[in-house]
Amino acid sequence: MKRAVGPWTKEAGLLLPTLRSWRVAFHREPELSNAEARTREKVMHALDDLGIAYRTYSDGFHGVLGFLPSDRGGPVVALRADMDALPVTEATHAPFSSRSEGKMHACGHDVHMACLLGAAELLHRHPERLRGPVKLLFQPAEEEGGRGGALPFLEHGAFERPGVDFVLGQHVAPDVPLGRVGWKKGPLMAAPDRFEIRVRGTPGHASTPHQGPDAILVAAEIVTGLQALVSRLRNPVDPAVVSVGTIHGGTRHNVLPEEVVLTGTVRTVNARTRERMEQWIRRRVRSIAASLGARVQIRYFPGYPILVNDAAATDLAVAGLEREFGADRLVAIEQPGMGGEDFARFLERVPGTFLRLGVGTPSMTASLHSPYFLPDESALVYGSAALAAGAVGLQAGPRR
Ligand SMILES: [Zn+2]
Ligand SMILES: [Zn+2]
Repeated sequence: MKRAVGPWTKEAGLLLPTLRSWRVAFHREPELSNAEARTREKVMHALDDLGIAYRTYSDGFHGVLGFLPSDRGGPVVALRADMDALPVTEATHAPFSSRSEGKMHACGHDVHMACLLGAAELLHRHPERLRGPVKLLFQPAEEEGGRGGALPFLEHGAFERPGVDFVLGQHVAPDVPLGRVGWKKGPLMAAPDRFEIRVRGTPGHASTPHQGPDAILVAAEIVTGLQALVSRLRNPVDPAVVSVGTIHGGTRHNVLPEEVVLTGTVRTVNARTRERMEQWIRRRVRSIAASLGARVQIRYFPGYPILVNDAAATDLAVAGLEREFGADRLVAIEQPGMGGEDFARFLERVPGTFLRLGVGTPSMTASLHSPYFLPDESALVYGSAALAAGAVGLQAGPRR
């Protein structure tokens, strides 16, 4: 039998109607990356209602930085939730479904924000349990994929005055059972790099392919050739993925096109492999194109960093979670996932950890980003308690 949950979870359970109302409000009105104006207003109103101080930015950046003071001199912990939704048309038929056609909180960021507000309320009610201040980071543009929202937040001074000692975040996880929290030391998520390959052929009649390189054939060879990098050059025990996501070229069955454009993603969890993968791709693509007489242009776009959870900070946070939930509600994650996450940028600055908040149930078959993704609302209770307990756990650590 499972141990009873701790005080944070019990209190968060009593807050469920409020947690639900926040989540419903976010979910109904999703906003895409860098367009989170209404979402920001909702966060501001909630913090106003709670009597929690915060600051916003007047230059178009949609972040909200809340602050829970403490004069006890312990470490400063930053808790983070992301704010943006996805260009997905919701198909959940939930009573609080998105009212914006083509936009949906399909990655659970509505849940993340409600949990951060919940944790803020819990910690605000119990300043005696804190050893130091807590910063509340409501971060826009996680899904944006390029500059994202974490880097601009740091540039706006999120980790300064006072300096942050530890950072903690979480993401809903369908592969972790509801009511449990997953944790892992070291690499948890991949660097999601991106490429675009333009293959130049000789346009002409499909009946005379010998008159110039056929961009379609070269593109096809590139698609299959890239997989040899993953299966033969990369060390098999070091996870990596190369996927071609789009191929565009041609207008008619009997016309050879002048150009075919491929785009794809490269996922790695090891910095050295990340570097090498780019070199291998460039070399391989050039050699395939050269062997068939085609010209090729390769553009490579680095994405978010590899997300690496600090071992000591993870120990501190997990100790806090264990006191709250008991060991049997914690799940040690064995393998990194190949998704990317903007939170990695915060972890490049200060030690911290990124948790996986369980939302898995037998009826939950939808994955993240699916139009059917709808986590159960009890995750709001566990997620609020996890952030509060994790923050207190981290504050048992040293100031930097
Ligand atoms: Zn996402
Ligand atoms: Zn997400």
